[in-house]
Amino acid sequence: MGSCRCSSAWQRVRRGLAAGPVVLQSGPAALLHPSPSLTPYRPPAAAPAPAPASPSSRHLFSDPAETEALRRDLLAWYDRCKRDLPWRTRAATEPSADRRAYAVWVSEVMLQQTQVATVIDYYNRWMQKWPTLQALAQASLEEVNELWAGLGYYSRGKRLQEAARKVVSELAGQMPRTAEDLQKLLPGVGRYTAAAIASISYGQATGVVDGNVIRVLCRLRCIGADSSSPAVIDRLWDMANALVDRSRPGDFNQALMELGATVCVPKAPLCGECPVKQHCRARLRASTTPESGLKGLPCVGQGGLVDEPALIPVPSLQVEKELASASQKLLGKATPVPDVEDCGAGGCPLCPPAAEPWDSSLGVTNFPRKAAKKQPRAARAATCVLERRGCHRAPEYLIVQRPSSGLLAGLWEFPSLPLPQDLQEEKQREALAEHLQAWIGQPVVAAELQLIGEVVHIFSHIHQTYVVYSLSLDGDVTLDAASPPSRWVTEEEFHVSAVSTAMKKVLKACEKQQEKRSNPGQGSKRKRGAKAQGTGSTGPGTQLSLRAFLQPPTAP
Ligand code: SF4
Ligand SMILES: [Zn+2]
Repeated sequence: MGSCRCSSAWQRVRRGLAAGPVVLQSGPAALLHPSPSLTPYRPPAAAPAPAPASPSSRHLFSDPAETEALRRDLLAWYDRCKRDLPWRTRAATEPSADRRAYAVWVSEVMLQQTQVATVIDYYNRWMQKWPTLQALAQASLEEVNELWAGLGYYSRGKRLQEAARKVVSELAGQMPRTAEDLQKLLPGVGRYTAAAIASISYGQATGVVDGNVIRVLCRLRCIGADSSSPAVIDRLWDMANALVDRSRPGDFNQALMELGATVCVPKAPLCGECPVKQHCRARLRASTTPESGLKGLPCVGQGGLVDEPALIPVPSLQVEKELASASQKLLGKATPVPDVEDCGAGGCPLCPPAAEPWDSSLGVTNFPRKAAKKQPRAARAATCVLERRGCHRAPEYLIVQRPSSGLLAGLWEFPSLPLPQDLQEEKQREALAEHLQAWIGQPVVAAELQLIGEVVHIFSHIHQTYVVYSLSLDGDVTLDAASPPSRWVTEEEFHVSAVSTAMKKVLKACEKQQEKRSNPGQGSKRKRGAKAQGTGSTGPGTQLSLRAFLQPPTAP
């Protein structure tokens, strides 16, 4: 770009001075100077919708010298500071392109919605068990779900395996070699994952856009428009593609994501340590002091942004603030003050909306901005930890498999059933008892279900409350062969089964409650064997009368 932005900034200030009063006089602030006839305010007739505006250069990387400098600074930092992660080691050392792509693919899928620290162990176990696409293609869905258990968003593992099978059966085991083909040919591979695999594994010069990149780019270029809108996301992809380093695209993309994950973090970014701070327009913006009556505006020099803002007087700010304050007093609500740092009132597709201007108390965290998230839907379910004595009197729990589609597809859980909101406890018990009866093929007495409490788990879009009950059975219980898959598992087996984190929380709540009941006033863990001896059981595996095995557990 090479031209000084001070002069254009001055022009914007002058435009603001000229445009500001016009806006206020044609709107509510006209009440500051009401005409003698008190003609009511009428909004102007709607103008034809303007053509979509192009973003100004302040939101772009249009100076090649600055882009080069940014790439250089970011890559140098990445080389010095990058975290040592198993998928990075594989991507750097694996000679086979297919294996490299597979290793990156697995990591990218696991990292969607999940923290790096959590993923590492899952990734290592996965790659040890299925080091190649071919190995994964031969695994059963049950094995995949078991390994994925606890990682959340379970459909990811299933889709990864389906896609691996497709590569093996339809593409002769060879991974597609471009981002476009990866996205087109592999089910479940979206634009981000395809670009990440292609840039990291094959060196294709394509950018990536994920949550971390969105944050960094929005801050680097003061993008305050809703960053979840498709139009803004498209612009960010254009920017990422323009910015990516041509000779080291994979490292560059990882560096941008690493910066977002470790330095340019959502709430308290470490701007002082940031390797690209001299290219960051949000930082520059935050370092200006409008309260002083002076406002800094950035200049772009030959070598990029000059880090010290040029200070120029901005008399319009004071005038506008006073007008807005008077208007607020009269009308009882705030009138947004047009921000002279933005590209122009309402015309820029990437500036913050006029109604939500820059908030100086937020600094760089003014960016990015998102439309308010939809509240998760509230749902309730009753669930029962049904326990019996198995081999050597060890407790076993009944788990049942969920349907193969929908939420938590194919995972195992304690028998559960959805509850209407506000259903009385008595009715809950009755419904749950009936549900359990269908699983075990024997009548269950509702009054014998012990209420443990409530466990809340937030799925991506559901605020799920489990009302937890428990019931201890003595003796062997024959499961109804006609029921969908169900099985008895020991505690160890439960934890390595494909069960959700929510179900692990349910078991924990149940165990805690039982500990309390067994040892009131003592923190030690209940001895399950000891409790079982007092229940009148005749020994493991013995088929008892229904009355005997539905006998409630020993009272505390
Ligand atoms: S200077 Fe601050 S806001 Fe800008 S990119 Fe760096 S960490 Fe993010
Ligand atoms: Zn703008």
